Amino acid sequence: MKEDIKSLEEAEIAARLKAMGEPAFRGKQIFTWLHKGAVSFDEMTNLSKALREKLEANYFITVPKVERKLVSALDGTIKYLWRLGDGNCIETVLMKYHHGNSVCISTEVGCKMGCVFCASTQAGFVRRLAPSEILDQVLFTQLDSGEPISNIVLMGIGEPLDNYDNVLKFLRLVNHPDGMNIGMRHISLSTCGLVDQIGRLAEADLQLTLSVSLHAPDDETRSKLLPINRSAGVEKLMAACRAYFEKTGRRISFEYALIDSVNDSDAQADLLAKRLKGMPGHVNLIGLNDIKESPLKPSKRMAAFQKRLESHGVTATVRRKLGSDINAACGQLRRSQLEQSGKENTGDTQ
Ligand code: SAH
Repeated sequence: MKEDIKSLEEAEIAARLKAMGEPAFRGKQIFTWLHKGAVSFDEMTNLSKALREKLEANYFITVPKVERKLVSALDGTIKYLWRLGDGNCIETVLMKYHHGNSVCISTEVGCKMGCVFCASTQAGFVRRLAPSEILDQVLFTQLDSGEPISNIVLMGIGEPLDNYDNVLKFLRLVNHPDGMNIGMRHISLSTCGLVDQIGRLAEADLQLTLSVSLHAPDDETRSKLLPINRSAGVEKLMAACRAYFEKTGRRISFEYALIDSVNDSDAQADLLAKRLKGMPGHVNLIGLNDIKESPLKPSKRMAAFQKRLESHGVTATVRRKLGSDINAACGQLRRSQLEQSGKENTGDTQ
């Protein structure tokens, strides 16, 4: 079976080439081609034809295809639905900010975390993405849009820490000076709170920003919203966050989508502030994106909740919404695509 060459690090490619009797510098040449977006070995004109044929016989290069592309008329946000080699689809969103362009990428096809407010999880879990498939979203979004990408957020479909090894490998690939060379400080990783994996990430001691999707300060509410909370609970999660900060020195960002009459009371703001005492970090308040068939509604208490947190000395920002005219919230495009193809399969022409 052919091997996925773009999932290999430069040193791994060099070692394979050496075993084929080639000089080690070929590793760097091939790595550079791949990370510029080469889609075939034939493009690698500084390699001999014989070597290109040998590579072709043993390796494949992942190339996602644009299945759909939506451009926001409001703010230029671009949403891509990519079709992968095996036919599965994933989403990527390119957002334009004053400080540069940021890309929001997926780490899995679907998600198994089951958060009740999240569209990504409703269509179920299919598989984890390979390092190459995570990288391709950054690479091909930059190539297709012509927009240089300076920031990455791992906040698309999937739970990054459920695909730990491939995500870590992706981080090393995208950070490599012979590749896209995107600095760790320009990367944010968002997790629903896999406590053991946060511990592993702390040990890796990367300079990325960890975002924790908290959404409630009490176990009763959080366990209803995020099933993962039933396995560890808020207290253990906060302890893992504290340890993460102590090890890496990086402040944590706590995501909090305000939901009407569920997690938006003053008492919950007070408890949240108490939980965050002595922990450098900030709260990012998000307006809940309405999702189909959900009884959960956006809170009308955004400003009041923010004020209440600030009265306890907690910094809280309200996340600006981009691409609201193109359904830019995660999981929604893949889901509508699945519904569409489901209809095609059943012959329903509506
Ligand atoms: N699995 C990871 C990353 C993907 S979700 C995580 O849970 O963090 C990215 C962010 O969007 C998370 O903070 C998630 O809780 C939030 N989110 C999901 N659905 C949402 C919705 N309908 N409205 C607002 N935020 C939502």
